[in-house]
Amino acid sequence: MDTFKALLITRDEATKAQAVGEATLSAADLMPGDVDIRVAYSTINYKDGLAITGRLPVVRRFPMIPGVDLAGTVVASASPDYRPGDEVILNGWGLGETHLGAFSQMARVKADWLVPLPEGFTLQEAMAVGTAGYTAMMAVMAIEAHGVGFDQGQVVVTGANGGVGSIAVALLSRLGYQVAAVTGRSQHPDYLIGLGAGEIIDRAEFTGAPKLLGKERFAGGVDAVGGTVLANLLAVTKMHGAIAACGNAGGMELPTSVAPFILRGVSLLGIDSVYAPKARRLAAWARLARDLDRDKLAAMTTVIPFSGIVPAAHDIVAGKVRGRLVVEIG
Ligand code: NDP
Repeated sequence: MDTFKALLITRDEATKAQAVGEATLSAADLMPGDVDIRVAYSTINYKDGLAITGRLPVVRRFPMIPGVDLAGTVVASASPDYRPGDEVILNGWGLGETHLGAFSQMARVKADWLVPLPEGFTLQEAMAVGTAGYTAMMAVMAIEAHGVGFDQGQVVVTGANGGVGSIAVALLSRLGYQVAAVTGRSQHPDYLIGLGAGEIIDRAEFTGAPKLLGKERFAGGVDAVGGTVLANLLAVTKMHGAIAACGNAGGMELPTSVAPFILRGVSLLGIDSVYAPKARRLAAWARLARDLDRDKLAAMTTVIPFSGIVPAAHDIVAGKVRGRLVVEIG
């Protein structure tokens, strides 16, 4: 492939105004790396929405090809670990932030960042999971490791209609947990019930001024929104329970107190997927292969063309996307 198509974010250094458009690039435009990949699929995560709309300073280098997740086929490799024809995926590691990313027919990356296509997934399914799904899995593993079992009472998932939320609901229900789904779209419960939620809670219940403590309600949970919602969840988490916090769709702040931590022994478990070490990634993908219901994954996934990336980026930061969006790149 002498030239290839990519989405490019540029910035006017005088005004700091950002522009996004399709560009034709060549291999010489790519950043250093030891493996060249023909990208087949990518996906739209919340962070891609922030990068493309410029709503938060996700992009650290201009020009930048956005896209934090890719799945594709190796076409050239200077690494002994990969050969042409190998199918691989990449989640995070600064892709689309500091390193040219996934919304491109070609990518050049470090071999250490790659994971062989996990067994049991097609390239397209791996992107339906994407960073959102693999983060949801790491959050579920974190509360399990803390000792929150399915026999300890209801668990809660926030941002439930989103990518992380949808996959967390599907995983937890498959694992036998009673799942309460917190959503701003409670008037359309069928989707979440289909994924396995036992109770749908309107987000408005968790957006008031947080109390120091409330009636104990959830044994644990996965929070994708942060802000006041997370503060309210902590106040109603049961004695010795744990909430895995992985997102900020509802805000970066956390207006809580020490009360849940020192009076109920509640734990707040931080989840970072971007720079997670390879062993943890492989463990999460192995669990996804075992615990994620493929029919539910298909039911929450919409495939969009390359031309749909920019509109989808605006939709995701506006909270309008449901489930997961896969982008056909190749
Ligand atoms: P999505 O946009 O798909 O999901 C976010 C969901 O949050 C929305 O669907 C909506 O769900 C809810 N939401 C939207 N706006 C608000 C608001 N103002 N207040 C409260 N809830 C809101 O995003 P993703 O699932 O891809 O990502 C979710 C979060 O997780 C993001 O903040 C993302 O940056 C973060 N993330 C972090 C990672 C990490 O490594 N720590 C990795 C991956 C994602 P509903 O309509 O049901 O309420």
